[in-house]
Amino acid sequence: MIIGIDLGTTNSLVAIWQDGKATLIPNSLGQTLTPSVVSVDKDGSILVGQSAKERLISHPEQTASVFKRFMGSQKNFRLGASHQFSAEELSALVLKSLKADAEAYLGEPVTDAVITVPAYFNDHQRQATKNAAQMAGLSVRRLLNEPTAAAMAYGLHEKNDDCKFLVLDLGGGTFDVTLLELFSGIMEVRASAGDNSLGGEDFTEILIQGFIKQQQDTNAEFWQPYLSLLHGEAEACKRTLTHQKQATMSLTIENTPYTWTIKESEFEKLCEPLFQRFRDPIERAIRDAKLRIKELDDVVLVGGATRMPVFRQLMTRLLGRFPAVNLNPDETIAIGAAIQAGLVAEDAALDEVILTDVAPYSMGVDTSLEIRENQYQHGIFAPIIERNTVIPTSKVHTFYPVHNNQTEVQFNIYQGEARLTRDNIKLGELSITLPASHRGKACELPIEVRFSYDVNGLLEVDINITETNDSYNLVIQNGAKQLSNQEIENSRDKLANLKIHPRDQAQNRSILARAERLYAQRLGYERTQLARLIGWYESVLDSQDPQQIRKANSEINKSLDQLEQDNWF
Ligand code: AMP
Repeated sequence: MIIGIDLGTTNSLVAIWQDGKATLIPNSLGQTLTPSVVSVDKDGSILVGQSAKERLISHPEQTASVFKRFMGSQKNFRLGASHQFSAEELSALVLKSLKADAEAYLGEPVTDAVITVPAYFNDHQRQATKNAAQMAGLSVRRLLNEPTAAAMAYGLHEKNDDCKFLVLDLGGGTFDVTLLELFSGIMEVRASAGDNSLGGEDFTEILIQGFIKQQQDTNAEFWQPYLSLLHGEAEACKRTLTHQKQATMSLTIENTPYTWTIKESEFEKLCEPLFQRFRDPIERAIRDAKLRIKELDDVVLVGGATRMPVFRQLMTRLLGRFPAVNLNPDETIAIGAAIQAGLVAEDAALDEVILTDVAPYSMGVDTSLEIRENQYQHGIFAPIIERNTVIPTSKVHTFYPVHNNQTEVQFNIYQGEARLTRDNIKLGELSITLPASHRGKACELPIEVRFSYDVNGLLEVDINITETNDSYNLVIQNGAKQLSNQEIENSRDKLANLKIHPRDQAQNRSILARAERLYAQRLGYERTQLARLIGWYESVLDSQDPQQIRKANSEINKSLDQLEQDNWF
């Protein structure tokens, strides 16, 4: 059995293809979403998932999250005094936990997986994902682009005509737009764009600011200590507005109640300013693919925040059509991964689904622009490879020296989309010496600059002075270091020797972590009450009596639920 895995930034899921359909596999807590969070407990053992997530607030120093953003980088995460992990190793711990859930569910060992990755992941990040799988004892049968997985979950790969789909993925803090084209059985990424500071959180922030504006005291300093509580209220309000026409936020500070009831229509109005921010990357992707909105065959929504009616309305207005929404947006990618796993297992047609990569950014050089005779503006970006060009690619541009008396030219190489190079990212530089034959008339000398970019994220710069045949070369590797097989084996041993909390204790750990999080969040009387509750619960756990523990679990859950519902401040 090959399992399908959505290895997400906030949550991960595992699913299988069984009896002709995709089935999501629950973890030991009975949930299909496993938070991509890892924490080290006080006895040095490792927690993965919900119990680790609860510890983000109470034990931030011992807990790591959002490590997917650092896949393929050399960043090290220190967890407590004794543990240090790379993003690959942390991802391997999440994968191990999903693998264990699948094995418990299937009652047999699992060794193979299809894993999804963002479309914009470069080869290093893809390789890092494969390394993580290997460390977890999984062999990757295929890496599947997340938007392609989403499109497959909607069955779009079964259409036989030339179809174009737009996949919009709105998570907590990022918005990814991908344009896919299915052409005689081949699914191509035609363009990708996005905004990695736009997400569900922006809607929560609008509610926080809206609440403060309604109050008598709108002074930011007054609200500063209560922002974390207000955030919780706003998040709950946002979720309520997903299925109700109005919702209320309330907070009591030093016996004074503060409330605000907001209607769906008012929320929509407040969200208007986000409209343009959503529009920009969508427009960019469609324009880069040289398409028009009306040529799109389908629009698919993925990511928790696409549940919001206000977001759906914005998209319907922008795209002039209703997006496909009949799947749970948290589960769509995992379902696509399971479908792909099924097809790989049957060795069926989807072998034909080849994915084409595109260069995610424009790459070019620093130039000077003559704005009037003998007057130059420097630091202007001249792109050579434009973003969303299908790779591998090789492009050449011809440049001329600016001054006749120049004896050398320095080419500074940049990536980005800004007009001025200072706003882009510098990748490297290459200096060339001009031939003596052109002293005093350098401006007439054509210099050819060729950029070649491959699927491994390798940029090769070749500079050639055609008249003399002098050539210069520079290879720029996209950042990350490759792990050797030995290093992967070492990490695998390191992870195998860690003490992982047993699956059968996952629920107790998660309850304890939740109580500790509430303790960290609350103050005063509630803290005293929680401290007593935690002390009592720990003593029950120490008894190791399964029946007593089961009873205590239900009691403490009730108390914690009540505490979270009531806002006693
Ligand atoms: P993801 O990273 O895909 O899990 O997306 C997380 C984002 O989705 C967060 O900003 C959540 O607030 C938001 N979200 C999840 N469920 C809902 C819901 N029922 N209503 C509104 N927003 C939601």
